[in-house]
Amino acid sequence: MKIIDKLKEDRIHISFEVFPPKTNAGFDKVLRATNRIAELKPDFISVTYGAGGGTSKNTAEIARHIKEDLGVESLAHLTCASSTKDEVINVIKNLKELGIENILALRGDIPENLSFPSEDRFRHASELVTEIHKNGDFCVGAACYPEGHPESQCSKEDIRFLKEKVDRGVDFLTTQMFFENDIHYNFLYRIREAGITVPVLPGIMPITSAAQIKRSVELSGTVFPRRFLAIADRFGDCPEAMQQAGIAYAVDQIIDLLANGVRNIHIYSMNKPEVAETIMSQLSEIVKC
Ligand code: FAD
Repeated sequence: MKIIDKLKEDRIHISFEVFPPKTNAGFDKVLRATNRIAELKPDFISVTYGAGGGTSKNTAEIARHIKEDLGVESLAHLTCASSTKDEVINVIKNLKELGIENILALRGDIPENLSFPSEDRFRHASELVTEIHKNGDFCVGAACYPEGHPESQCSKEDIRFLKEKVDRGVDFLTTQMFFENDIHYNFLYRIREAGITVPVLPGIMPITSAAQIKRSVELSGTVFPRRFLAIADRFGDCPEAMQQAGIAYAVDQIIDLLANGVRNIHIYSMNKPEVAETIMSQLSEIVKC
């Protein structure tokens, strides 16, 4: 089923994310984690894409497994910055053959050295959106950045390019992680004002270890509020306490979002079924209300 059709149903939607193993050796472990996350019956599970080679095949295979074997809808991520147009088109054709109906169209990070002429690739995610629609009847999602994409000069420009991307046929957006809900509310206001009307799924990352904080800042440039930093300072050296406090913070963020009218939440569960399970048990009554 297309995710956009699910999102039209008047209820709360929860989704999770897994990432494929870098080598084939880790495949079974990822499948076991995915199987447990699927038991929570989320609306969909997204599978990230590591550019090039074996990991991209793993994305397709895990997305197929989620949909076909586990009966949960899947969303296959696809990046285009480090592949030729032909390589990307082949991946789209393969996803279609596997029966995947939902693709998250991403540019990905630009590699320093390309082994092919740079004209031979899709330069922006918006070009990929157009290409995906040419190759099949897919529901297409894309990324957005409440704190601005790190390469953007200003948020006005970022939102202008986001509007161009959505106008090429994006059905829904998923946000980069954020830890301060007011940033999200402000972003929603600005994009609605710019005429972007598609559903926006806030991406919530439960931070369960102090090391994850550093990684998240490096990856997304996100701002950690003082309240969160105090938690990390106090509990960062005690893994169990940090995990409990990180999950509580994420649950608190989700409850605030739902209380303020948000209906769809994407949780960056990162191959950690125990984290997904705890969050869902703490939201069990809330998602029904
Ligand atoms: P784009 O939408 O192309 O935007 C990138 C930058 O280019 C922005 O600054 C934008 O303002 C600018 N821009 C856009 N159009 C134009 C234009 N026409 N002219 C000039 N500038 C323009 N990475 C992975 O490798 N694998 C994943 O699975 C993955 N999943 C992700 C999921 C989510 C929800 C998010 C938020 C990010 C994910 N990423 C993933 C990271 C993403 O690939 C990077 O953030 C990447 O740098 C940008 O990708 P994008 O699709 O947002 O790019």
